[in-house]
Amino acid sequence: MSKGIKVELSEKLNKLPPYLFARIDDMKVEALRKGVDLIDLSIGDPDIPTPEHIVEAMKVAVEKPEHHRYPSYAGMLSYRQAVSSWYNRRFGVKLDPSKEVLSLIGSKEGIGHLPIAFINSGDIVLYTSPGYPVYPVGALLAGGVGYELPLYKQNAFYPDLDNVPSDVLDKAKLLFINYPNNPTSATADESFFEAVIEFALKHNIIVCHDAAYTELYYDGERPLSFMQIDGAKEVAIEMHSLSKTYNMTGWRIGYAVGNSEVISALGKVKSNLDSGVFQAIQEASIVALGTDESVLDQIRQTYQQRRDVLYDGLSSLGIRSARPKATFYLWAKVPDGFDSMSFTAHLLDKAAILTTPGNGFGNPGEGYVRFALTVPVERIKEAVERIKNIL
Ligand SMILES: *Cc1c(COP(=O)(O)O)cnc(C)c1O
Repeated sequence: MSKGIKVELSEKLNKLPPYLFARIDDMKVEALRKGVDLIDLSIGDPDIPTPEHIVEAMKVAVEKPEHHRYPSYAGMLSYRQAVSSWYNRRFGVKLDPSKEVLSLIGSKEGIGHLPIAFINSGDIVLYTSPGYPVYPVGALLAGGVGYELPLYKQNAFYPDLDNVPSDVLDKAKLLFINYPNNPTSATADESFFEAVIEFALKHNIIVCHDAAYTELYYDGERPLSFMQIDGAKEVAIEMHSLSKTYNMTGWRIGYAVGNSEVISALGKVKSNLDSGVFQAIQEASIVALGTDESVLDQIRQTYQQRRDVLYDGLSSLGIRSARPKATFYLWAKVPDGFDSMSFTAHLLDKAAILTTPGNGFGNPGEGYVRFALTVPVERIKEAVERIKNIL
């Protein structure tokens, strides 16, 4: 028996949803221990390294003593200007770098902190599900309550905004949406975004669009920024990140853009909790934001080839999905007779393939598994062969 203090978690921590991936993690550890040749298609993290010119810029930046001190909270003005220019080039969206752009220590940080700025005890945060687990967790840690808006295939993986109960709407302060979507890989069109703006104005709800995957698109069809839609800045901010675009998940840098009051409130939370992004990383990120599109096209080509091999392979085996137009995920329906968890276990036990069970992203994800395209194409071919042998 330990003689130390009795450590009791807060009610908030205790209320966090159970970690559904724990069983999968155990199975993975067990498979690796047995020396199994595991093909891991569960990882939402690029396997391709950060482009060399960005790494080189970092090497130069890290030598500068002025970067060794505390950074400015909102981010260096030069970084915010680089974000603003990038938005203008990519989306034709004009942003004031001093008021409408805020640096983040990865967009996860901003998503997690945002509810603190607006949520009082019992207030509701609407979020789409299946989805990134940080939306409801951030709501809960801020003392609020998450309310799940299910995404179903028959509704093009859009939430049904017309049927949110009115008592929920009365308490709703914030709405998280995410397109291109993790895990469904759905993309959004202009009319959906317009409907979101109308909904937000009608019910006085702040919108946060998580846009982490806008640059991972295929077949030359470029996804929209929410900020391109008329009136977006009156109701919304958009979170973006260098993580997925430039293979920089380990660097921890992103940004929020949009409504200046919302940006300022998020900045207020952050300046009281963190001390900003290491300036050398910001400086290298300015270089990243100027990356030639041909470099990104190369990365997109790599994922697109993997996508086609996996989609065509699974389709030929009767496993149904949609060919992703964006993101590095493929959202596949489990075969008859399985649920998300049992199919995930079957793939792992019988084929040494690791995927993510769809219900791990929320209950509406039941009946699906998520395949990530973050392994070389030869391994994807091998995975398809193995699945063929166990169906
Ligand atoms: C990867 C991802 C992010 C980005 O996270 P960072 O903290 O910027 O690395 C945000 N939202 C979703 C849905 C993601 O999958």
